[in-house]
Amino acid sequence: MLLEGKTGIVFGVANKRSLAWAIARRAAEEGARIALTYQGERLEENARELAATLKDPLVLPCDVTRDEDIATVFSTVKSEFGSLDFVVHGIAYALREELEGEFLNTSREGYRVAQDVSVYSLTAIAREAAPLMEGRGGSILTLTYLGGERVIPGYNVMGIAKAALDMSMRYLAENLGARGIRVNAISAGPVKTLASAGIGGFSKILEHMRNHAPLRRNIDQSEVADAALFLLSNMSRGVTGEILHVDCGYNIMGM
Ligand code: NAP
Repeated sequence: MLLEGKTGIVFGVANKRSLAWAIARRAAEEGARIALTYQGERLEENARELAATLKDPLVLPCDVTRDEDIATVFSTVKSEFGSLDFVVHGIAYALREELEGEFLNTSREGYRVAQDVSVYSLTAIAREAAPLMEGRGGSILTLTYLGGERVIPGYNVMGIAKAALDMSMRYLAENLGARGIRVNAISAGPVKTLASAGIGGFSKILEHMRNHAPLRRNIDQSEVADAALFLLSNMSRGVTGEILHVDCGYNIMGM
């Protein structure tokens, strides 16, 4: 039980296919008590149904574009849990029209929204989480994608967001390291979820990876969850500011 007696908060559970849900479930199996957040009433039922399968969960609304929502989440977690050992940031959003056609046509508003929801939220969350994690060897984990390191046609403005997310993760790792808090990312290979369904040509991305990754297959959510368990637990106590690729090795390929 790698997370026995630990508490964590997981942002980004939309449904049972969400990477954040796979991580939440895996962490709970290893003994952690989990708080889940959902974005709006639309997803509350889903989040509550999933959370009901966990032991003693906390389920809270949070739209990460609202500072007051983030503050309420952490004050509730403080009063219910007392302290916090880990945070999972599994949130991304871009306007649908930005994920098709050319990056060249990115609108100012599309750029702003992608950065606000998918990138700034990590910093806003880390700032609120840090006081609850101090002295506990806390771990913060975000989910990124290769489209922030290399050009993946169609990923467009979200690629720019992931590049900024990767650097935010590293700056936060430096800032919070002195307080014993680690910040890392998993770069997941493509997986069919609600968010990825909005990416133009996503089935082509899946097929390309299946044919060209060293392991010649796609990944699934459970592989991300197992890697997350490593990064959330004491097993990775010497690791911070790192991007761990869970992508069947695809990122090493030149062609
Ligand atoms: P997902 O299940 O759709 O999760 C994305 C989550 O972000 C949803 O719960 C979504 O809620 C939430 N979200 C969007 N806007 C929000 C806001 N303003 N406030 C709070 N929550 C908000 O898809 P996923 O694929 O698991 O994505 C999780 C993370 O993994 C993302 O960062 C994604 O980029 C990353 N990732 C995914 C893949 C992949 O192939 N699936 C690969 C690499 C990295 P709503 O549904 O309400 O918008």
